[in-house]
Amino acid sequence: MRANYTMQRLFVPDDLAAGSSVPLGPEQSHYLANVLRMAQGARLLTFNGRDGEWLAELAARTKKSMTLTIVEQTRPQHPLPDLIYCFAPLKVGRLDYLVQKAVEMGAGVLQPVITQHTQLSRIGTDRLRANVIEAAEQCGILAVPEVREAQKFSSLLADWEQHRRLIFCDESAETNNPLPALKLVQEKKLALLVGPEGGFSEGERKQLRDLPFVTAIPLGPRILRADTAAVAAMAVIQATIGDW
Ligand code: SAM
Repeated sequence: MRANYTMQRLFVPDDLAAGSSVPLGPEQSHYLANVLRMAQGARLLTFNGRDGEWLAELAARTKKSMTLTIVEQTRPQHPLPDLIYCFAPLKVGRLDYLVQKAVEMGAGVLQPVITQHTQLSRIGTDRLRANVIEAAEQCGILAVPEVREAQKFSSLLADWEQHRRLIFCDESAETNNPLPALKLVQEKKLALLVGPEGGFSEGERKQLRDLPFVTAIPLGPRILRADTAAVAAMAVIQATIGDW
């Protein structure tokens, strides 16, 4: 069932059940009261990533804190999409964008990967998680994608999960169209790997191409920015072997 796109959607960590009360912190209270100017009795949708989506009503409100009364379930909980998006982190601004797009495009897990040419070493996982929740609120998903701790390129491949196909976007591919390679993918469990702005090193590319669980794909004749590549790759994957 598609999400209701007219009502405001808010993520809360609390359990959700008919009649329960959910106190909101100062940030969310401020957002509803002052940004959205919601009055007492106003209705919105809430989700916590576990109990599905629930209709909620603004109960008591003071400037500092608000309380929601949970009314009824509007959508049952959805499973997390089984698509792991592996990416070399980018500079903060672009990283926010990349994370939000990955969630909108259907990633279930975000796996930062430190490759040879990755510019950013320290990654704010909390910031990534906040972007994931904001994207989830906006695009109407109910299962909140997981953000994993960053892994080094070699250990990611060494510990690779059985029966999961890794689709690797290879900017040095000889052809342009990804569909022939994607059509050969049999696995239902999928992962996608996009390199950093500096691209993969020759060694990394060779290591990937030699692995039996890896499928290299081109993304057209032009070199895309990493965040553009992520959206393009997710689109072709979802449209051919994913959940579109
Ligand atoms: N430094 C690389 C170069 O100049 O050739 C460009 C890297 S690109 C900015 C970042 C990542 O996006 C690449 O590592 C690759 O995963 C993906 N990508 C970009 N353009 C692509 C294309 N035409 N085909 C396949 N992957 C592409």
